Amino acid sequence: MPPPGVTVADHVLLRRLVSILRDRDTPHGVFRQTLDEAATILAYEAMRGLRPTEYELTTPLEQATGVRLADEVVIVAILRAGLGMVDGFLRLVPEARVGHLGMYRDEEALRPVGYYENVPAGVDGASVFVVDPMLATGGSAVQAIGRLKRAGARDISFICLVAAPEGLEALRAAHPEVAVTTATIDRALDERGYIRPGLGDAGDRIFGTD
Ligand code: URA
Repeated sequence: MPPPGVTVADHVLLRRLVSILRDRDTPHGVFRQTLDEAATILAYEAMRGLRPTEYELTTPLEQATGVRLADEVVIVAILRAGLGMVDGFLRLVPEARVGHLGMYRDEEALRPVGYYENVPAGVDGASVFVVDPMLATGGSAVQAIGRLKRAGARDISFICLVAAPEGLEALRAAHPEVAVTTATIDRALDERGYIRPGLGDAGDRIFGTD
């Protein structure tokens, strides 16, 4: 059973994509495309709770009731690996605004260091989806969500591909109301802060920089 507030998206197609992403022999172009596809499945799962609003439309045959999204959607990518998930989300909600929070990991302290931020106006009334493929220590996610709360965001979800139990615990402790969607919860973090079995450094694998 996943911890409270955490959804593990359960679909054989997603598990197949995660397997391709885990494989060290997957080249970066295939990795990027596969992560994009996985992100769309995760977005579909994470966006189940979006509020609908009804409106009247006319089909070629008669009147019918349609549905629009009641609230604005904002996607916030934690740089740089989060960029690999943005298009997968935009495929389902093309009108969403996109924010960026730049953080790199201090490899010694294993702590996130912020270096860039661009948060769209209007996050206070929006459904905000923070994306980062790897939830490792949880440091970046905790910091990013704290920043979005300071900008006024109230409805925040976090979506990753691979979560470590340690990261889920840290996120839950800092932001218990934030719903988390992941494709898998892996075994543990190693001493270098990598998720095991994991898939390596997601940013390097997306951008071919390893
Ligand atoms: N970030 C990654 O890209 N991979 C890990 O395993 C942990 C953090």
